[in-house]
Amino acid sequence: MTQAEPARSWDLPLWQSLLPLGRSDAGGYRRFSFTEADSQCRDWFFGAAADRGLRTETDRNGNLWAWWDPPAAGLPAGHRDGPESSPDGTGVVVTGSHLDSVPDGGAFDGPLGVVSALAAIDLLREAGVAPVRPVGVVAFAEEEGARFGMACLGSRLLTGAVTPDAARALADADGVTLAEAMAEAGLDPEAIGPDPGLVSRIGAFVELHVEQGSALAGMDAAVGVAESIWPHGRWRIDFAGRADHAGTTRLADRRDPMLPYAATVLAARTVATELGSLATFGRVVAEPGAANAIGSAVHAWLDARAPDEETLKELVSQVTAVAELSGNGHGVTVTSRCESLTPSVDFDLELRDRVVAALAGQGVDAPVLPTGAGHDAGVLAAGLPTAMLFVRNRTGVSHSPAEHADPEDCEAGVVALAAVLEELACR
Ligand SMILES: [Zn+2]
Repeated sequence: MTQAEPARSWDLPLWQSLLPLGRSDAGGYRRFSFTEADSQCRDWFFGAAADRGLRTETDRNGNLWAWWDPPAAGLPAGHRDGPESSPDGTGVVVTGSHLDSVPDGGAFDGPLGVVSALAAIDLLREAGVAPVRPVGVVAFAEEEGARFGMACLGSRLLTGAVTPDAARALADADGVTLAEAMAEAGLDPEAIGPDPGLVSRIGAFVELHVEQGSALAGMDAAVGVAESIWPHGRWRIDFAGRADHAGTTRLADRRDPMLPYAATVLAARTVATELGSLATFGRVVAEPGAANAIGSAVHAWLDARAPDEETLKELVSQVTAVAELSGNGHGVTVTSRCESLTPSVDFDLELRDRVVAALAGQGVDAPVLPTGAGHDAGVLAAGLPTAMLFVRNRTGVSHSPAEHADPEDCEAGVVALAAVLEELACR
């Protein structure tokens, strides 16, 4: 297999069958965990796995699995106990990504990795290649954290990076807890939590993902390999002021929470620029939200990312310092707390070298690059050898309906992933 192989390696019908699910009026996707759209995506996953004769299961954290077993594994009929270890003790090989989306997200972020995983298996089968150790395709639950506020929730639960109690108590914007949403979706919220047995059986995890930036476009490469993930996190900042009449309250008498909030947004941009980092306020709630009243409170969420943890700490501390200082000046009480924090991730060097070599063997010269985006692979990297492949995104736009990857690049991604799976699981 080489990068120049014809288009048949991109399983277009599989991709197209997923495209209509959870589509929003804005042209993007609203595939929020444990909703109707999510349930359709789950059915799609199991349908695609069944079409390929893959063994499937939903783990106790709501993550979906499909297993391509070695022909000689000798699994008894009806076997449903999860993956066997590989015969030589090197562990099973897992690939995949997620199916959930941010509000009005794009088609590629997540689903590209799941579709490519299944298409790569098709490609290997067509080439007459069989695994000698089981290959798992996973779709992790609530990767975006769009409904319950914690990114990579499914992989965090699986690896024990979040406690079951803390997870169960997470609530969506309507006050529905994770426990309630899971029960509603037919899953048992009491069963969630770490699964060290499953994690310890995984010898390697490789996630293919659309690039969320345009570095590859500048390098003229269709596929890249991840070097590291920047440390990143979310901070909630609450500005408590005093509701009042917009027409009768003198400016000097106001305790308007919107003002320190605005100063904080501008400071975040300035500080991030100075520190070579990223800071974003993408969500803000003003209370009570009347157009003719000074708000009583503003709740805002800061997403911050930096090349290293020291810089991230500095970034957040400078931004919150401005929030407090400005709050003082306006009679507004400011409180902030960290909602999630993901340390920097350096992907496994040995696995990365094997991935790069496997691609080079197919004539693919894949550059190695860092990313500011978090992924389930980053969570899993704390406990097992993990690697990532990125597929070129020419505009770099992501988390938007305009997110796009060219079909030729998606095909190249499948060929690359197949080469990696062949190297890791088939010899
Ligand atoms: Zn993603």
